[in-house]
Amino acid sequence: MGALLEEPPPVIERGEGSYVYTASGHRLLDASSGVWNNILGHGRQDVIDAMAGQLRALASTSTIGRRSRVADELAHELLRLAPPRMRRVMLHCTGTAAVEGAVLMVRQYFKLVGQPRRAGIISVEGSYHGCSLLGAAVSGDAADARWLAPLPAGCHHIPRPHGEAAAAASLAALERLVRKERPGRLAAFIFEPVMGTAGVIVPPRSWITGAIAICRQHGIKVIADEVVTALGRVGEWFASAGQAPDLIALGKGLGAGYAPVAATLACEELFEPFARRGGVAFKYGSTMDGYAAGCAAARAVLLAIEREGLVARAASLGEGLLSRLRELERYEVVGRVRGRGLMMGVPLVEPGDPDRPLRAEWTARIVGRLFEAGVVLMRANATLTLLPPLTISEAELDQLVQLLEGVLSHPGEPPAGRARGRLRGLLGRDG
Ligand code: PLP
Repeated sequence: MGALLEEPPPVIERGEGSYVYTASGHRLLDASSGVWNNILGHGRQDVIDAMAGQLRALASTSTIGRRSRVADELAHELLRLAPPRMRRVMLHCTGTAAVEGAVLMVRQYFKLVGQPRRAGIISVEGSYHGCSLLGAAVSGDAADARWLAPLPAGCHHIPRPHGEAAAAASLAALERLVRKERPGRLAAFIFEPVMGTAGVIVPPRSWITGAIAICRQHGIKVIADEVVTALGRVGEWFASAGQAPDLIALGKGLGAGYAPVAATLACEELFEPFARRGGVAFKYGSTMDGYAAGCAAARAVLLAIEREGLVARAASLGEGLLSRLRELERYEVVGRVRGRGLMMGVPLVEPGDPDRPLRAEWTARIVGRLFEAGVVLMRANATLTLLPPLTISEAELDQLVQLLEGVLSHPGEPPAGRARGRLRGLLGRDG
């Protein structure tokens, strides 16, 4: 916070397509789509018109005990596009609420079906699932947890599946947890199909299927946190579609940065006990859930993704981008580039030591130089995260690679002490 006060982040004043502009007129390629959410880029008239029309008709009516036409329509659209197992929709305003809705629905489900001891949640070390207290407990970032303690109990973490050997160790830890330590006490397993905040880690597919098989065997429900990955980001409508999860959390791209809108999708089995005669309400909901203008924005976003073929586009552009970014590995500060679709991580490493993340001051200086060169992006520790709008043009992608190359090929000398350069902490997380 001190660094931010000393050197406040730039004021972004307007956006157009894949670019944003600072108050002083500096044009920046928005390589992380805002906070990974502006999937259609900036200034989309179709989304703006849909919202404006809805605001005039009815700005909001909560989905707590009420309905609106636009919320119903959005829910139906989501179910049309989602894996067939998904049958129910809850609408929210943030990804945090979508995850929390999923977790709490599972917990209440088990109480309703007479297994009240099943409340534990398993997730992956270093994952990110939201900024609430439950989100922090589930996320398992030890550095964050230290400041927020005491966190809700009952959250367990297995090692992250970064590479084949780590994935095998992660599955072994899951086996141990479900068999020996907590049999009958575990309610849900939550995972990100591609781990974003951890630095764009792509788990081996065998890890995901293995983890889900273990959970199914032990009656543990599976939540796919697709707040980042869904709606085309990784080249599929839903990255977890092949895994048949019990619940899916959505956010970010659903409102595409135009409106706060998020959703939890659930299978019928989880919903059924709530609906029984004399059943109880689901103990979760917030005033602006089902925000009508947000639902109108999300409908326009889904329409645009479909009409413009953005899911397939992300898959094919992503393949080309990955191989071009891999060419940057010849520079001494670039580690093994990874990603899927238009979700890429470029890890920065210490020269001569590819297993050691580049020190924070140097990483911040590189991010600052990229900013000056005309690219704004988020980083996760020492990994540059590239999640451009799905609408980005090929020429803009060329420009992005060139600008990255210009800076990464000449990373400068190691900084002597704490970085005092421009934009030291720009949109970054240092764990
Ligand atoms: N889940 C994942 C995987 C995320 O990356 C995030 C945010 O980055 C969230 C949940 C929380 O979403 P929000 O910031 O909209 O609350």
